[in-house]
Amino acid sequence: MIRMKDVQMTGRHSDMTQHETQEDAANGITPGGTTGAFRDVLAKDHARRGKPPLHLVDMNAEQRIEAANQLGLQPFRVKQLANHYFAHYAVDAARFTDFPESMRQQASRIFLPRLINEVTRQTADEGTTVKTLWELFDGARIESVLMRYPKRTTLCISSQVGCGMGCPFCATGQLGLTRNMSAGEILEQVRVAAKAMRDGDIAGGPGRLSNVVFMGMGEPMGNYRAVISAVRQMSALPPNGFGISARNITVSTVGVVPGINKLAKEGLPLRLAVSLHAPTDALRDELVPMNKRFNTTQVLDAAHAYYLASKRRVSIEYALMRGINDQAEHARELARRLNHYGDDWVHVNPIPLNPIEGSRWTASKPQDERQFLEILHHAGITATLRDTRGSDIDGACGQLAAKNLPVAAAV
Ligand code: SF4
Repeated sequence: MIRMKDVQMTGRHSDMTQHETQEDAANGITPGGTTGAFRDVLAKDHARRGKPPLHLVDMNAEQRIEAANQLGLQPFRVKQLANHYFAHYAVDAARFTDFPESMRQQASRIFLPRLINEVTRQTADEGTTVKTLWELFDGARIESVLMRYPKRTTLCISSQVGCGMGCPFCATGQLGLTRNMSAGEILEQVRVAAKAMRDGDIAGGPGRLSNVVFMGMGEPMGNYRAVISAVRQMSALPPNGFGISARNITVSTVGVVPGINKLAKEGLPLRLAVSLHAPTDALRDELVPMNKRFNTTQVLDAAHAYYLASKRRVSIEYALMRGINDQAEHARELARRLNHYGDDWVHVNPIPLNPIEGSRWTASKPQDERQFLEILHHAGITATLRDTRGSDIDGACGQLAAKNLPVAAAV
């Protein structure tokens, strides 16, 4: 079976130029994050876990042709496979009637290995919210959440197993980072959800997956290369992607400034969500350890630059914690900081915290939530209390996602 490691060792890693490699290394955005600024937030067993099986979507054009050659397949067969995958969400090559029967099994094994297996599925909101726990090739577990609304259907996906950012109020942060996910593992969450919607498996009948948010487990900027590859393949039209508009894809970050800057140069109209959680450095240093590396001024400068480059309003995610960051003075300071950059560039999403059992971090009182919103509105800032659909299955950069995943810690 071809694995990521094998391809990297050939030194032909797809779309990566020498210049990019050096720049990324300086930024800390490196393949697998094993060097640079993120190496200290990687789990110790990161290296020995190995890499997921290489999938069609993890290969560049050259690698796809090479793999086809090894199987004795004509290059156009690769396009056929991609079409089955992206246009029809199909992975069972045994049913690809336009494919030589003798090659179906081999093609399936080399190009479409199974990357995620469903462990459990929970539903809420009369079946329109579905949370799925997935097991990956090495036993690691992640989850995704599908939320169907009257006019859109949003999938919240994971990009890492666990998270290395260590925010003390966050369940995922307590797990630490096990490893980065491959583009294939990320995209498989999307394919399965898109197929379920098309086939009418979600309450409400057949429909279309319209939105994707990187707010499951993990810090997407800590796995930049796989995330951007997945984003490009989500948004391209078949047979190169699923055809989900880039405008409907949200990448969330805890404030990894080099990642935000790099994303701004991609030329994609993605929505950026920044998990700020505090309006001052003194408070954010306590809540978000990454703030010691990139402080609130650097993060907000980068977020505003992203707005200017993309013309997309930035979302500011703010988990409201009782007595910690949810008082009038915090709302006023947040409004002041955001208005410093001008009007209408930002949308604030205060989120009722889903507390970790037994921790001192707990949800705000309803009256404090209301007051927080009122102060922002009064200062001219658009703000909406985040929908807590399914009561606990949405959140900023995954902090709520691991609540029902105690098993993941033991994997
Ligand atoms: S709040 Fe977000 S960045 Fe912080 S540990 Fe949790 S998932 Fe990671």
